[in-house]
Amino acid sequence: MTRKSPELILMSILERVADFPPVVSNIVRHSDLATLTFAALKFRVPWDLFLNDVYKDYITVAGDAMHPMTPDLAQGGCSSLEDAIVLARHIGILFALTGKIDSSALKGYAKERRGRAAILITMSYLSGWVEQGRSAWLKLPFRLG
Ligand SMILES: Cc1cc2nc3c(=O)[nH]c(=O)nc-3n(C[C@H](O)[C@H](O)[C@H](O)COP(=O)(O)OP(=O)(O)OC[C@H]3O[C@@H](n4cnc5c(N)ncnc54)[C@H](O)[C@@H]3O)c2cc1C
Repeated sequence: MTRKSPELILMSILERVADFPPVVSNIVRHSDLATLTFAALKFRVPWDLFLNDVYKDYITVAGDAMHPMTPDLAQGGCSSLEDAIVLARHIGILFALTGKIDSSALKGYAKERRGRAAILITMSYLSGWVEQGRSAWLKLPFRLG
């Protein structure tokens, strides 16, 4: 994506919200220019979670670093919190049982989170794909979900 000046970003957002109620464009118009940047969406293909490492020795990743996804289900932050809880549980149980921590806690964490993250990445992507101009019939299951 090319770098754009904040003024150009503001104009381009205003064009996109032109059909929204005036309160929306008013909020955009009053944005602090110093805070405006465009950033490309990050996305990890779901199968990469199974084909590549999620942890190594005593190091692992969580949140967006592990499973960047499109924003269409608003689950990036929620699933980051889930990661934290699951990771803490695996470390806590291992420590309670053995009095030490080793990479088997990270192995358990990775095993538990891979599938869930892959499903969320896939569903978010599909939801966005359907919402962007597909037929009302295709959109229906996502609305009901
Ligand atoms: C506009 C928007 C709306 C969103 N809405 C939702 C929503 O409704 N629901 C939802 O669940 N999710 C939502 N998300 C996604 C959610 O914000 C992210 O998935 C979540 O913040 C990821 O958490 P994280 O801790 O993995 O990463 P981050 O929140 O990005 O935290 C990473 C931190 O690491 C710091 N950092 C980076 N590099 C370094 C470095 N080298 N050294 C030290 N620190 C460093 C960063 O400054 C940052 O503070 C939204 C995201 C955006 C952008």
